[in-house]
Formats: sequence, C-alpha cells, structure tokens
Amino acid sequence: MKRLVTTAVTGLLLASCAAASFAQTPAPALTTAPLPESVPSDLPRVARPLHYRIEVVPDAANLTFAGTSSVEVEVFERTDALTLHANELEFSGVRLLPADGRGDGVALEATLDAEAQTVRLGAPQPIAPGTYRLAFRYSGKINTQATGLFALDYPDKRTGETVRGLFTQFEAPDARRFAPMFDEPSYKATFDLSAVVPANQMAVGNMPIAREEVLADGRKRVTFATTPTMSSYLLFFALGDFERLSAKGPGGIDVGIVSPAGSGEQARLALESTPPLLEYYTDYFGVPYPLPKLDNVAAPGQSQFFGAMENWGAILTFEKYLLIDPTITDPATQTFQYTALAHEIAHQWFGDIVTMAWWDDLWLNEGFASWMETKASAKFRPDWFPLLTRVSGRETAMGYDAFATTHPVIQPIRTVAETNDAFDAISYSKGEAVIAMLEAYAGEDTWREGIRRYIRRHSYGNTTSDDLWRAVEQAGAEGLVEIAHDFTRQPGVPLVSAESACREGRTVLGLMQGEFSRDRKDETAANPQSWRVPLLIRAGQANPVRRVLDGSATLELPGCGAVVVNGGQLGYFRTLYSPAMTSALVEALPGLAPIDQLGLLRDAFALAQAGYQPTGPALDMLAAVPGDANPIVAQGAVARWDSVYDTALEAHRPGVAVQARGHWLPRLQRLGFDPKPGESLVDTDLRGDLLRILGRMGDATVAAEARRRFAALAEDPKSLDGPLKTTWLGIVARNATAAEWDRLAELAGSAPSAVERQAYHALLGAAKDPALANKALDFALTGKAGTSSAAIVTATAREHPDLAFDFAIANRAGVEALVDASGRTGYIAGLAAASRDPAMIGKLERFRETVPADEWRGVDRRIAGIRERLASEPRLAGEIAAWFAAR
Ligand SMILES: [Zn+2]
Repeated sequence: MKRLVTTAVTGLLLASCAAASFAQTPAPALTTAPLPESVPSDLPRVARPLHYRIEVVPDAANLTFAGTSSVEVEVFERTDALTLHANELEFSGVRLLPADGRGDGVALEATLDAEAQTVRLGAPQPIAPGTYRLAFRYSGKINTQATGLFALDYPDKRTGETVRGLFTQFEAPDARRFAPMFDEPSYKATFDLSAVVPANQMAVGNMPIAREEVLADGRKRVTFATTPTMSSYLLFFALGDFERLSAKGPGGIDVGIVSPAGSGEQARLALESTPPLLEYYTDYFGVPYPLPKLDNVAAPGQSQFFGAMENWGAILTFEKYLLIDPTITDPATQTFQYTALAHEIAHQWFGDIVTMAWWDDLWLNEGFASWMETKASAKFRPDWFPLLTRVSGRETAMGYDAFATTHPVIQPIRTVAETNDAFDAISYSKGEAVIAMLEAYAGEDTWREGIRRYIRRHSYGNTTSDDLWRAVEQAGAEGLVEIAHDFTRQPGVPLVSAESACREGRTVLGLMQGEFSRDRKDETAANPQSWRVPLLIRAGQANPVRRVLDGSATLELPGCGAVVVNGGQLGYFRTLYSPAMTSALVEALPGLAPIDQLGLLRDAFALAQAGYQPTGPALDMLAAVPGDANPIVAQGAVARWDSVYDTALEAHRPGVAVQARGHWLPRLQRLGFDPKPGESLVDTDLRGDLLRILGRMGDATVAAEARRRFAALAEDPKSLDGPLKTTWLGIVARNATAAEWDRLAELAGSAPSAVERQAYHALLGAAKDPALANKALDFALTGKAGTSSAAIVTATAREHPDLAFDFAIANRAGVEALVDASGRTGYIAGLAAASRDPAMIGKLERFRETVPADEWRGVDRRIAGIRERLASEPRLAGEIAAWFAAR
C-alpha cells in the first residue's frame, strides 16, 4: 500500500481450465499443522484453507451484494467447530461437504462475533481430521469509503452524468468483508473468483478472465483464472464503465491501465512506465513476474490514508495518482504517480510473492517497497533527484521517532486497530531509511544478492525480518544482523556528537553516540539507548571513511576542513557538531554535495528545535544555501524559511520575510511565473513552492497575480489549465473573499472530472477567514463532496486546527462517516496537530477516553507534539529575534 503524506457456493469445485493457465503456481502443500506456533493468529489452530471459490453478485444501486463461497479446508485435529473471519456478512446457509463436494453434507450453525470479526461454524458432530469443503451462502455491504467492497460515484468523462464504479480494498484485514476467510497473511491459498454483473460493464480481477457467459436475464457471469497461492488481503475485484489501455511487457506479460471510460491518453504515461519497471525488478529480484497480466486500476475518488494498493496482478491506484490530466496534474502529483507505480510494482515481488508472516513485520513490506520505489525512481527519473527527496522521508520518520510515543520498527501487533495503526511513518519512512543504510553497509551487489536469495528461498511463502537479514549476511554482509536488530527492535534516533581538532595538518575527530529526543532530552542524555551506527565520513576531497560507531571513537582524517559525519545522508541518526565544526560547515556549505547540504540543514533545525543547540547556527546554515542550489535543496531551504516565519513573533515576521525574499525572489524571477517549454519537473515544482511561500509571506505581486488569473477564469475557463493550476488556486483560496469562495464551490460542482472536483473541494477548506472555514466544515458534513468530504475537513485543519477539531467532536458521527473505518481515531486527533492552544491538550485527553486503548497511540502522538511546540516555541522565537537583531 502506498501511504499518503500525506486499506459461495456456486456448484462445486470443478477443475477449471483457469487453474491450468497458472502452471508456475505450486498448490499449497499439505502440512501437518495450520501455522507455525511462532506466527500469531486470531483463529483456532485447527484448520487452514487450500482453495477458495467465490462468486459475488453485486447490487451496486442498493450497495449490497450476494455471495456464495466454497472453501476447501484441511482440518488438522478433531474439533466441534471451525472459525473463519467475517465482518458485516450475513449468512443464510453454511454446509460442510466432503472434499470432492459430493452429496449434501451437513448444515453448520453460524455464530457471528462482531467484536472479533469472526464466524464460528458449529457442527452437529465433531469433525475428524481431513480435507473438506465449506459451502457458504451469504450477503454483504458495499461501503462508500475505501474498505472491503466499495462504491465510488463520479462524473462520467463522456457525458458528465454521475456513474458508480465498484472496487475492493482488503488490506489490512478487510477481505473478511467480502467473503468468510482465514483472513491473515500466513493463510495463503489459491482463489477462483467469479461475478454476475451487467453485460455492458468491465470486471477486473487479479487474473485474466478465463470465461464469460451471457445469462438469460442479459447479465453475464465473469470467471477469472485461478490465482497463485497468495494472502487474502491481495484479492481484488472491480466493476464499472471502464476502458483499458494495454501493452506487452517483458516475457509477453499483458500490461493494462484500467480507467474510467473517456480517460483516453491520460493513462498513457503510466502504461509506458510499467514495462521498464517490470524488467528492472525482474532483473533485480532474479525472478520473473509470475502472473500473465498486470493491471493498474484507476479509482476515481480518494482515501484519507492511502494512494494505491498492491493487489496481485491488479493494483488499485486512486485516479489522481495514476492518470495524467494535463489541465490539473501538478509536478508533486506527477512525481508521486511515478513513485506509487514503482512502489506497487515492487510489492508484486516483495509482499505478494513473499509475504510477511504477520503484521508485526508490516514494515518489511512497506519499508522495502518505499526503498525500492526510490531506487527505481533514481534509475529512471534521475533528473527528479529521488535520493534527495528521500531525506525528507527520513525527517518525517525522525519527527515521530524522537518522541516517547514512538515504537520500534518491528512491533507486536495483536488487534485490528493496531494493524491499521502500523501503516505509519515508522513502517514506511524509517523502514526505508534503515534499509538504505543497511544497503550502504552491505554494498549494493551483496545486498542485491541477499535479496535474490531471500526471494528464491521464500517464494509463495511467509517470512519474518530475520529471514531477510540472514539471507543478506550469508551473501557476504558480515555484522549486518546486529546493526539491523539495533535499528528495528528498539525505537528512537541515535545522536552522534562530533568534535574535532587540527593537528599537524590532520583532523582528529572525536565521536560519541547518544540518543536524540524531542520530549525526553534530559532522560535520554543520562541514559541513552545504544546502537551500532554505520558512518560514512566525508572530509574534503579524500575518499570517505567507513566506520561502525559503537559507543565512542577517535579517528584521524587527512587535512583540516569541514567534516560531514553522515556523508551521503545514508545513516539514520542526527549529528551534533561542535561550534567550530558547524562554522566550518557553514562556510563550506555552498561547495558540499546537495544531499549533504539538505541533511545538514535538516539536522541543524531539528537540533535547535529540540534544544541541543541554539537556532543561530541553523539560521547561519539556511542563509548559506546558495540561491542557485539544486531545486530540491532550494525547496528544503524555502520550506525552512516558511517555518522560521511561522515561529517568529508577529513583530519580527516582516524582517524574516525581507530576508527570505532577498534570498529567493531572484530564483523565482529567473524561473518566471509560467513554466518554460521543456523545463524540468522539479523546476516547475520549485516555482510552485516559491509562489506559495513568498505569497504567504505577503509578497504583493504574487497575491495580485493569483487574483488576476482567477478572475480571468470567468472569460476563459481553461486559462488556468496546466501544472500550476492548483498553486494559483491555492493562493486564491487561502486569501479568498466570500464571493471567491462561492465561486470555488461553483467550480467544484461543475468540474468535468472527479480529479478536478477533488482539487476544488480541498481548496474550500484552505481559507484563512474563519467564517469561510466554518462554511467549509458545514459543507463537508453534507457529504455532497463524496470521498473528498474528509479532505475539506483536513484542509481546514491546517489553518484552523482548533476549529476543525472542535467541529469534528461536535459532529463526531457525521465526520467519522466521511473517513475509512480503519483510521478514524487517528484522523480526528490529526486535525488538532497544528494547534497552538494549551487547552487542546485537555480536549485530546478527553477524546482519548472515548476510544479503545489500542487506538490511543494516534492521540498520544498529537498531545506530545503540541506539548513540545508550546514548550519550545517561545525559546525559538527569542533566538530567531536575536539572530536577526545581530545581523
Ligand atoms: Zn506499500
């Protein structure tokens, strides 16, 4: 899953021709036990599934579906009941049949446990060990948020009429909303899926369609080929008025982009980007993509939590993150599109062929796919500087990881809520940063050889993190397991303190490892955790020095000059330099590698924020970033100016704005207000940031230009079309008058596509004017904006966190209904994130009392963040004022 930064018995089991089409798939082998004891499970360890045959008949208009399912199960010990997962399903009949499906079998009594999300099937007599068929007749719900089988309503691109498409989202445990299942990743099985659907619609599954029959009532039955052995969360189904653009991938794989009808060429870029990625991963993993086809399905809507999902052979990506709409797709979205594509295709191996045994190791799936997406992007889109962008991901992770509310990368997970909560910055971004560090430690070739061994050894099986470490260490990365354990089994961020002296033309460098914390600085200083920290030290032009720091160390480097302890920003730690070393780095900054410029800047600000050093050195470093810096470094610098502006006292803000403009207005002037033909995507993105941030700091020319362009829309509705449309509209929306707000609402209603509608809706929540913010919140609650409704509330919370949080509490049921069931507590708590009101802490504490204990962490994180902000901001504001006064 790609996070946002931002989810039957029809007859008997026949040997179908479909099964034969999947020659490589080993059938699940008969074993002596359902699961190893080391793998957690909600289900009694008496049985496991071998094969599912599921048929659904959706009633899209009424948001329900009928299902029949036949599950071939192996029972290991004598038992009077079998238990499967089921959530919001109603059973009208369950029977136990012999393995060959002959006869009537016996009726079982289904008892649902809503809390446990299971169905217990009681037998009239004990069931003896052996192989059986479970036959279910049931019905279920079609949801309106991205959970289980869900519906999206959107304007048809050809007619403008509202139409409805159906899609599924089963991760983490929501396949149980689609059919009764052993819905845990280690219960791998094969699946035959069929559906009875309107004859004029397109149905999509994991596998190609094996056959289609026209039924007497004009509908058709679509049967997909048998899947390989896989986890239930990877099953997929979609249905609607779709079109498919296709191409041949390596080895003849049928690659398709399935889009809302009328999308045409918007799918072209994603289609053309897919075969090279398949080829690259086939080479990298050393195993070919095993399915005959790979679809990527564009879902016209959105989730507050994720952008795409790696269903095997049928990736789901929200339309905004898959199709290029030249009228509105902005550069940041376009880069996200590519990384989402690279992420989900990487999962087709890492996650789908080899799957974590249990959700404890979710990070292994997500951290790895995140790391691989960056690696693939760096290969195919080097001009976007993906390795530099990775530094921001590491910062996000360290942002969480430096609070007491953090958790280790590998964490015990027992409940559904804990599973959903695990899709966080620690799993994704810390996971990615740690893997990048371990790859650098092992060396690229050794690391890849380890990955190849791991994939070969565990294909169609389940693993834990240690299986990966062992494979890489066996490939030659001695000592890797210990480092990996240090960074994945304990939480937190190492702090490396550095001081140096120049002796006889050589640098004597002293290093000491401690722990970086934002809310327990004294505690961690007295009693830090310890890590073995791999370092890559850069000094001048000499070759970098590699060292694993365990405690403290002294080393000598040739020459005397600036030293970067975390060269290439490959390490997951912060570096606290002595004042003299910091001064040398400030002076040398313009000549350092862009990635180190960025890393040093982020470290300096984080250390100042947490009180390890004053803000002055961070501001010195910010002022030293050259005006012609790499565009990603420039974006990082402009964002820091923005946060300095935010933190400074009202009276000092004009001074900050003058400095920021002095540094960065010339870059904007060089770029101009409009994209130049053939310019790089990162320049377009930088222009957007400069416009937005300098505009926010009161640059009158930018605000006036935004207004002028918005007014011109009345004459020519296409005048704003292009990659900066959302930037200009964002500036207008932020400063909107009541009349401009109404106009934006009107444009949202009449926008020709789901994606454009989504963009306008989010803008409604961006207004600074509290009256308009209230209007936006009320509008969100009407649900008229469909799956974009929650995005309006989110957008409002950026400028008005207290207003948005209070509104959500006052209208809790209504707001919760706008969000995927899996993340409601975290969503509401997140609205408060930007609050600067001490009263918010009490409000969050009262909110926490109303939710189950396994959902507290999301609330505690916000409380800790607000506490820390309230404690540090007065100090930071004073230091900022002093720095400006001294200049
Ligand atoms: Zn993922």
